Amino acid sequence: MANAPRTAPLDLIDVDSLHSDEERQIRSVVRRVVDDRVRPHVAQWYEEGRVPARELALEFGKLGLLGMHLTGYGCAGASAVAYGLACMELEAGDSGVRSLVSVQGSLAMYAIWRFGSDEQKQRWLPRMATGEAVGCFGLTEPDHGSDPASMTTRARRSGDDWLLSGTKMWITNAPIADVAVIWARVDDRVAGFVVPMDTPGVTAREIRHKLSLRASSTGEITLDDARLPASARLPEAAGLKAPLSCLTEARQGITWGALGVARDCLHTAIEYATSREQFGRPIAAFQLTQAKLADMAVELHKGYLLALHLSRLADAGTLRPEQVSVGKLNNVREALAIARQCRTILGANGISGEYPVLRHANNLESVLTYEGTSEIHQLVIGQHLTGLAAFA
Ligand SMILES: Cc1cc2nc3c(=O)[nH]c(=O)nc-3n(C[C@H](O)[C@H](O)[C@H](O)COP(=O)(O)OP(=O)(O)OC[C@H]3O[C@@H](n4cnc5c(N)ncnc54)[C@H](O)[C@@H]3O)c2cc1C
Repeated sequence: MANAPRTAPLDLIDVDSLHSDEERQIRSVVRRVVDDRVRPHVAQWYEEGRVPARELALEFGKLGLLGMHLTGYGCAGASAVAYGLACMELEAGDSGVRSLVSVQGSLAMYAIWRFGSDEQKQRWLPRMATGEAVGCFGLTEPDHGSDPASMTTRARRSGDDWLLSGTKMWITNAPIADVAVIWARVDDRVAGFVVPMDTPGVTAREIRHKLSLRASSTGEITLDDARLPASARLPEAAGLKAPLSCLTEARQGITWGALGVARDCLHTAIEYATSREQFGRPIAAFQLTQAKLADMAVELHKGYLLALHLSRLADAGTLRPEQVSVGKLNNVREALAIARQCRTILGANGISGEYPVLRHANNLESVLTYEGTSEIHQLVIGQHLTGLAAFA
């Protein structure tokens, strides 16, 4: 079968037939925007370590991608599946671009939408949905990452006001944000605060020298007795489970986003392998290359079915956090393995910014770590299987 028809990386088992027309339409609209607005520029953004995040936020806002799965306040009220498909297409462009949308919608907006007062929601959500206001989510600290329960950022009373002090580290969007959702200790409990970034005592510094997620703005936020009114506290956020529930929201987008990376890498590798000749034949004709391509396509499809199943559970209102851990752990880990394997198929060209694969692989090193490292997700799943918590 020398000239058998070629199949696009995600057509192998016809996953399209599992989607409604509306889902397919959302996917193609986002794919087109990524093709027009991200793909032609992203290699340069990555190389320069900057991204026109505010412009992109306005464009994504017009399309209804910000807080897409939330209802009211100008949000699109889309299904978890539709939101997942959007994340997949965005991350096929670049993980940094998907991170912009995830942090805005699933972390900052979701925290305000789920735990905020009416006043906080009215003030921030409509402008965040359009992209006029950009948000960030500050949980991690320089000395407290996987174990946020030990955070040292504190909020204390000063009359009716709050004074926030501490440092948040590795905060996506922080240098460009208008507002931060900051998690801080009040006595012995974790509480959330909506903090305008122009509050005196709040500073954000861009973290330089990243070798991953370079098309994303990442910062350190310092809170030096930042004074906030009593109304800044998120009234419905009680304890650490509040920020953890935001992370559970965001991980669903990551589970899908990783598939976009895997698909883009596989697509690139197939294109390359069918045109690159060695020993007088396309390298795609060698059995070892085909074995790699076949194994990667199988993993990509398994991950797709997993993501779709989990999002259908989310839409049915039954998705549990440990199930989200299964999706995040598997799909990011497999996408990273696929990106690295595709890199081998491109040979020396695989390390060039002319092709997306090493950029994608480098990005996934961050995605593997943020929103719960792969080890922490293993522990979450292990706890569910054994009834024993092995965190400490
Ligand atoms: C590009 C980027 C963007 C980010 N954006 C944000 C953001 O917007 N907001 C935010 O709050 N945070 C953000 N983060 C931070 C991210 O969530 C943390 O990096 C992550 O939670 C891990 O924390 P850590 O880096 O301190 O690693 P550590 O917690 O120090 O972990 C180091 C290693 O030890 C392992 N480890 C830790 N505890 C255990 C244990 N009990 N058992 C076994 N192994 C363990 C970890 O799995 C890991 O391999 C971002 C990070 C990056 C890289």
